[in-house]
Amino acid sequence: MLSQKTVGEYWKEKFGEKVYRISIDAGFTCPTRDGTKGRNGCIFCDERGSRPHSVEPSLSVSEQLKTGIKRLKKRGINRFIAYFQAYTNTYAPVSTLKKKYYEALKFPEIVGISISTRPDCIDGENLDLIEEIGKDYYTIIELGIQSVHEDSLDRIGRMHTVEDSQEAIKMIHERRNIEIVAHLIIGLPGENEDDIIETADTIKDWGIDGVKLHHLYVVKGTVLEKEYKEGKVKVFEDPAGYATIAKKVLEHLTPSTIIHRFQGYAPKEELVAPSWTSNRFIIRQLILGR
Ligand code: SF4
Repeated sequence: MLSQKTVGEYWKEKFGEKVYRISIDAGFTCPTRDGTKGRNGCIFCDERGSRPHSVEPSLSVSEQLKTGIKRLKKRGINRFIAYFQAYTNTYAPVSTLKKKYYEALKFPEIVGISISTRPDCIDGENLDLIEEIGKDYYTIIELGIQSVHEDSLDRIGRMHTVEDSQEAIKMIHERRNIEIVAHLIIGLPGENEDDIIETADTIKDWGIDGVKLHHLYVVKGTVLEKEYKEGKVKVFEDPAGYATIAKKVLEHLTPSTIIHRFQGYAPKEELVAPSWTSNRFIIRQLILGR
């Protein structure tokens, strides 16, 4: 039995009703894509930069939200978090960020914002803006930490350091009203269980509010696909093997850490391996039994 709450439970308590994220592609890029640090992106990431299929990037932020709100209202959901998901959502001049963020926040149904970014793209200026938003809206920064092992970050083409991750968390802690959700990948090439647990222990010490766990999975059109097909990379073919380690990671975090995600997800048509990645709830069911 885990001591932590899932994000669904947490938000229901916090807002008094179900709250869902609506994913947005606001047209940003990444320093690993635009040539600043590299051109190919992280080895596991395809050209859509983590954008789900439901998001239509040619639409404006407002239009994407309107579509998402309409779709989810039919399912009885009336409050939403604007989730700036695709690419690096603090990687632009602050004036651009401000315009895009506030375009999302003008909807009365939007109760908060979740900004997904890289640790090396957090700075004083964008934190000034995000802290300002946090005065009026529930605010999260989702940080792609992935691992606290330098070799692993190099291996997957992250092009930021462990120190960048620690520094970003320290800088966010100095601000008020911003929750930190750490993204981790379990099963990175070259990492064993001890390495993964060391990542959990380290981010616990740094201080995080929530976690999104992902297993290493392979989607089409990535460098990882090539490596997997060449036999250079292994994945958890058996979901139970991943669930066992994911549960241990959660047990190493504090009881107050909110679980935002138990596993990665990719639809069948984009997926190479492992096949269970297209079942969104399999790991949650294995860990929680529901
Ligand atoms: S994982 Fe994130 S930082 Fe890396 S290329 Fe994809 S969107 Fe950019």
